[in-house]
Amino acid sequence: MKDNSIIIIGAGFAGLSAGIYARMNGYNTQIFEMHDSPGGLCTAWKRKGYTIDGCIHWLVGSSPRSGMYRYWEEVGIARGREFINMDEYMRYESADGRTIIFYANVDRLEKHLMEFSPQDAKPIRDLIQGIRMCLGFDQPSESDPLLKRLQKILKLGLILVTRGREMRKWMNLSVAEFVMRFKDPVLREALREMWFPEFSMFFMLFTFAYLHNRNAGYPIGGSLPMSLAMARRYTDLGGIIHYDRRVEKILVKEDKAVGIRLADGSEHRSGQVISAADGHTTIFKMLEGKYVDKKTREPYEKWPVFQPLLFVGVGVNRSFADEAQNSLRHEFPSTPADGNRVCSAEQNTGPHF
Ligand SMILES: Cc1cc2nc3c(=O)[nH]c(=O)nc-3n(C[C@H](O)[C@H](O)[C@H](O)COP(=O)(O)OP(=O)(O)OC[C@H]3O[C@@H](n4cnc5c(N)ncnc54)[C@H](O)[C@@H]3O)c2cc1C
Repeated sequence: MKDNSIIIIGAGFAGLSAGIYARMNGYNTQIFEMHDSPGGLCTAWKRKGYTIDGCIHWLVGSSPRSGMYRYWEEVGIARGREFINMDEYMRYESADGRTIIFYANVDRLEKHLMEFSPQDAKPIRDLIQGIRMCLGFDQPSESDPLLKRLQKILKLGLILVTRGREMRKWMNLSVAEFVMRFKDPVLREALREMWFPEFSMFFMLFTFAYLHNRNAGYPIGGSLPMSLAMARRYTDLGGIIHYDRRVEKILVKEDKAVGIRLADGSEHRSGQVISAADGHTTIFKMLEGKYVDKKTREPYEKWPVFQPLLFVGVGVNRSFADEAQNSLRHEFPSTPADGNRVCSAEQNTGPHF
């Protein structure tokens, strides 16, 4: 008889999703997670009455009209959760007192940027045109009626045929390269700092398109409640999670994964193994680099390493009700005695703080 057991490594979003869909399809599943709680990167913690949460700023697919929403419902995230669609994605406050507002609505964004820096009309128009191109992307969903699904597939096909070259151009353009087209140094810096300079411009265009379509809402409660909801959905379906268990090795027999060995030396067997830990650890440590082809190895050896991200959360004992929800390079005195020393920081005064 076929062994229908699956061991999943990691209880982040990917591992929990794998567990939920495996349970929904009748597999016996166990997740082994090295941390003491679920969620992986999508987490938060409490300290002295503050919730420190640096992860979810927006969740793509938060609109019930989007093709992805059904999946968020299935994995237990969307059910009963309220999403807030922001009118402003981000404010950038410059040292010279000017403020750029990155509006979610593309028309408003265009008007504001044009007023902010008329000399940059050309790159602003390019940016807005790029965002408008992405507005039409609506992923077909299995829950759509057949006719609607066909319409969406046709529309996607048409966009790919007519705008394919333009899309490739944006895909191959980094944020750092694009911002050099702007003359206003504040606008240039704001766009550069908003995400990572090495990101593809495509990411920026899509994010603004999702925001415009009110399909990238902020989930009330923030990151950890979403992860806990997902873990609950998984265990409600009968799935098992073992916490504080670090997987060291994937056991292989005749080129097939047959189980895992934990850091405590114990071994656990299953019909299949899914690793939802990071790729490098999985391929080069758990599998000792024995099952990797040239194509898979190349990104790890040749691609530039992503800059490390350091997150520092600061709880401030005052109301931010009148402040923008997200602002970048906010100015504030670093200590009362310092007067106006400028600190560059991202301030998030979202409902979870
Ligand atoms: C600062 C920040 C902001 C973000 N903002 C957003 C946002 O606004 N919107 C959005 O959609 N996404 C956002 N993301 C991205 C999103 O959080 C991640 O894409 C997602 O959480 C990744 O899930 P994952 O399951 O693939 O990986 P992870 O969350 O990394 O999960 C991997 C899990 O595997 C476990 N693990 C690893 N090795 C082992 C081992 N040897 N044994 C056992 N367990 C192991 C880890 O402990 C972890 O729990 C953000 C990420 C960060 C860092």
